[in-house]
Amino acid sequence: MVHASLLEVLSLSGRRAVVTGAGSGIGRAATLVLLKAGASVLALDIEEDGLTKTRALAAKAAVREPDVGLVDVSDVMAVNAALGAERFDVVVNSAGIMAPDSLEATSSRDWDRVLAVNLAGCFNILKAAVPHMSRPGSIIQISSMMGHGGLAFPAYTSTKGAILALTRQLAGELGPEGIRVNSISPGMILTGMTRVHLSRPEGRDHIADRTPLRTVCAPEDIANAVLYLAGDLSAFVTGADILVDGGLASVINL
Ligand code: NAP
Repeated sequence: MVHASLLEVLSLSGRRAVVTGAGSGIGRAATLVLLKAGASVLALDIEEDGLTKTRALAAKAAVREPDVGLVDVSDVMAVNAALGAERFDVVVNSAGIMAPDSLEATSSRDWDRVLAVNLAGCFNILKAAVPHMSRPGSIIQISSMMGHGGLAFPAYTSTKGAILALTRQLAGELGPEGIRVNSISPGMILTGMTRVHLSRPEGRDHIADRTPLRTVCAPEDIANAVLYLAGDLSAFVTGADILVDGGLASVINL
C-alpha cells in the first residue's frame, strides 16, 4: 500500500503535458502514464492510426483521453500551429526515427531526415513550448543508450548524442527560470522502431542474454522514468540523463 503523501507527490493532477511520438512505443506509454497520474495530455504524432489506438487504450484504462494532433515535428509551421500559445507544465520529446545503416550505406537524404526529425523536431517543439511553459516546468527528452557510445548507425547515434548535449545546455539556460531539462536513455525496447529485430525470438534473446537484468526493456519502464522526471519527486533534478536499459550499456563493450 503506497502512503497517501507519496501518491500526492506522484500526482500530476491539474498539469498539462505535450508528448510527441505519442502514437506508438515510448511516447504512447508516456502518454498513458501521465494520464494515469492525472495530467491532461496533448498527444502528437505523424501517424493517425497510432493516435487513435493511444486514445482507445486511454479509454480502456478508464483515464481521461488525450487530445491528439497530427503533426510532423520536423515541420516548424505545423508544430507552431499544434502548440499555439498553450501553457504546458511538461514536455516530452519522444518522436524519432532510425536509419539502421553504416556510414557507407547512409545516404545524404537519410542523414537529413534523421536529423530533421530526431534533432530539429525536438528543437521545434522546444522553441514553440518553452516561451509559454509553466515555471516550474519539466522537459524530458528521449535520447538513447546509443548516444553514449559508438555502437552503430551514424545518423541516429549522432542525434542521440546531440540530445544529451542539448539537454545539459538547456538545463543551464532554463534552470534559473524554473524549467528543468532531463533526458532518458533507453536500452533496446520492443516498439515500432525495433519490431523487425526484436519480434524475432533470436533477436530478442540476443539482447536479453547480454543485458544484466536478462530481459528486454518495455516501453512502460521508460514511461515510469518519465513520470519521475515530470513531477515533484524530481524537483531538484536537472541536466541529468537516466539510463533505463537493464544494465546493458554498462557491459556492452566488454
Ligand atoms: P516508435 O514505436 O516507432 O515510436 C515513435 C513514434 O514517433 C511513431 O509513432 C512514429 O511514427 C512517430 N514519428 C516518426 N516521425 C515523426 C515525425 N516526423 N513527427 C511526429 N512523429 C513522428 O519508436 P519508439 O521506440 O517508441 O521511439 C521513441 C523514442 O525512443 C525515439 O526518439 C527513439 O529514438 C527512442 N529510443 C528507442 C529505443 C528502442 O529500442 N525502441 C531505444 C532508445 C531510444 P511512424 O511509426 O509513422 O514513424
